[in-house]
Amino acid sequence: MIFLCNSREDAWRIIELIRSAHTGRIFNYVINDSFGRVFLIIDGNLEAITDGFIERNELHKVFSILDGDDLFFVTDQTLVPELRIGKRLYDPQDHKVSVIAGPCAIESYESLYETAMALKKEGVSVFRAMPGKPRTSPYNFQGVGDIGWEYLHRIKEDTGLPVLGEVLCQEDIDLALEYDIDLIQIGTRNMQNYDLLKRAARSRIPTILKKGMWCTNEQLLKAAEYFYVYGSGNVILAERGIQTHETGTRNTFDVSSILTLKEKTCLPVLADASHGTGVREFVTPVNCAAVLMGADLVEVEVHMDPDSTIKPGDYYQMLDIGQYRELLKELAGVMALVGKRFDFES
Ligand code: PEP
Ligand code: MN
Repeated sequence: MIFLCNSREDAWRIIELIRSAHTGRIFNYVINDSFGRVFLIIDGNLEAITDGFIERNELHKVFSILDGDDLFFVTDQTLVPELRIGKRLYDPQDHKVSVIAGPCAIESYESLYETAMALKKEGVSVFRAMPGKPRTSPYNFQGVGDIGWEYLHRIKEDTGLPVLGEVLCQEDIDLALEYDIDLIQIGTRNMQNYDLLKRAARSRIPTILKKGMWCTNEQLLKAAEYFYVYGSGNVILAERGIQTHETGTRNTFDVSSILTLKEKTCLPVLADASHGTGVREFVTPVNCAAVLMGADLVEVEVHMDPDSTIKPGDYYQMLDIGQYRELLKELAGVMALVGKRFDFES
């Protein structure tokens, strides 16, 4: 249930009422005033207790789970979150596109620095590199671990680029805060790790939430709803392909989901055609299609020498710097058609 309260005191009065009428039963609640209004959010249905009280005190119950629809904040287009994507303050109407690029897992500081500088020269909004990566196989390179957060911080200082790292667990979020990381990412395998979502939401660090490879857009939106309830809507929705029976590509990238997500929310939507297709030659055309459909960000894997990457398999989808330059050129052409430009252009 969600209540729109006149003040935090009202919210506490409702909580006390439920406590006294409901002895011994545990219920969870959050008071959230990040949107200039005071919302009390309670899990479970306690209408029998609260309804009379709400009427007497002229409070507003704005949402009941009995309606059978679990989306409230995420579909409210008037609640535009204050969200930084690197140096860009997100505005759904600003006609800008951000590009996030970098390797998959961090291999060494030296290789990170070389790649970050090369990308900076071409133009990039945020540099990505993952301290750790969950892998389907235990024999695949899993990243460098905690030291990776320190490396990302050094990259930020040494290159001036905003940085993105993936969080695998709640402790990673503490490290992201400690090392002043600009953006974090929750990968496809963790989209339904709800305790991790709550912790990321509470941290207020802008978070890319990648659609679970087995999930629907509806499930992605429900996961994003956590970022409103427990945070300030600090979330970017990412289409990164889902598993289907198709074997020609690593995943099936659903271009139309960009439309669905843009239609339902005012949140930024990101396209990741690297993981979405797993095929280097498809990365540029599919990202161009996504930008035409309205994607606000593109995330792409780039390596100085894709053939030498430590994780076998990744080189199929990684671009080298020349191919990255080509991607930017193609994207610029497509963006010109729809009146958009890169956020790193002056
Ligand atoms: C990645 O961004 O490197 C990655 C593996 O993402 P996903 O979780 O979408 O597979
Ligand atoms: Mn990857």
